[in-house]
Amino acid sequence: MHRADPRPHKIDVGVGVYRDETGETPVMRAVKAAETRLLAEQRTKSYLGAEGDQGFTDRLADVALGQPLATDTRITGVQTPGGTGALRLAAELLARAGATFVWVGAPTWPNHGPIFREAGLVVRTHAYFDTAQSRIDFAAFVDSLAEARFGDVVLLHGCCHNPTGTAFSPGEWDELTQLFLARGLIPLIDLAYQGLGLGLDEDAAGMRAMLAAVPEALVAYSCDKNFALYRERVGALWVQAATPAAAVPIRETLLVLARSLWSMPPDHGAATVRLILDDPALKAEWRAELTSMCARINGLRSALGASHPALAPIADQQGLFALLPIDENAVSQLRERHAIYMPASGRINIAGLQLETIESFAAALSPYLPR
Ligand code: PMP
Repeated sequence: MHRADPRPHKIDVGVGVYRDETGETPVMRAVKAAETRLLAEQRTKSYLGAEGDQGFTDRLADVALGQPLATDTRITGVQTPGGTGALRLAAELLARAGATFVWVGAPTWPNHGPIFREAGLVVRTHAYFDTAQSRIDFAAFVDSLAEARFGDVVLLHGCCHNPTGTAFSPGEWDELTQLFLARGLIPLIDLAYQGLGLGLDEDAAGMRAMLAAVPEALVAYSCDKNFALYRERVGALWVQAATPAAAVPIRETLLVLARSLWSMPPDHGAATVRLILDDPALKAEWRAELTSMCARINGLRSALGASHPALAPIADQQGLFALLPIDENAVSQLRERHAIYMPASGRINIAGLQLETIESFAAALSPYLPR
């Protein structure tokens, strides 16, 4: 509908990809350089194993998990087709291990439910978001987990929550860790936006602290946003077992499951990421590009947050998304009257805005916002 709209001032805050100040989703410079090298140097396209490019997964572990977790022999990792593939492989492993229930927050990324259900798991939802205040209601979260039982899995967004833009504070990560330990709950951490919230290490800090404290956990990772590799489908799954010995059959099972799901993951994007992480100059360039993407998002967040009192929480949230406190009717009015496009849920992609469009965006929104 946005594409077909002839109005020149139209705004698309719907599609969930990073956009720069010209509205484009460009290939990152470090990615282009690594792809050029790959094209020149790659000697074969023969099959890899079901684990994909292990060099990619190992180097990415340094970025995602940091030391010493990246070299902890209780943790085993494989490359997957995107974060979606990582979540699906996690779901299949959990089903195979006898798990029944996966708890997801309401609202969450709409694909979480189908991914777990298709693997035969039962999805239960917990509260965590105070819609009126646009912030985490941690007490409600803890309350609704009272029903979770030993061995249940709880999905957590590692940072930059999709769709609410929320993130747990370090204290909340600690409280969750204690709760999970006391109740025997297993965290499945979905880290799809590392580096787009506060920074690479900051965005992973809560997850790392939790992994260091709990016996078992899973991490589903996507490189699609922080390397802007979307369609190349680049991701990884790490599973932390209670002991190094327990990690061995887990890895074997992951490989058996991956074989029947996709045989092996696509190579090009992961090989590109490996080349970047292997080369100090390319890695520095990637980090600098990611930092400027993150700064642009946070600049837009500050400006949008300052534009109306009801939008103030957006300034303190993270990542690409925010959930506007408006209803479906307001979403269609914004579309018809102002050529502003977003899904019916009121989720916006902050990077779809420009500093120059924030004032008119906020003015259009204003009549629909709570006073
Ligand atoms: N988890 C969340 C929270 C996401 O928002 C997304 C992508 N929109 C994914 C996982 C899946 O990422 P990928 O595109 O790598 O499959």
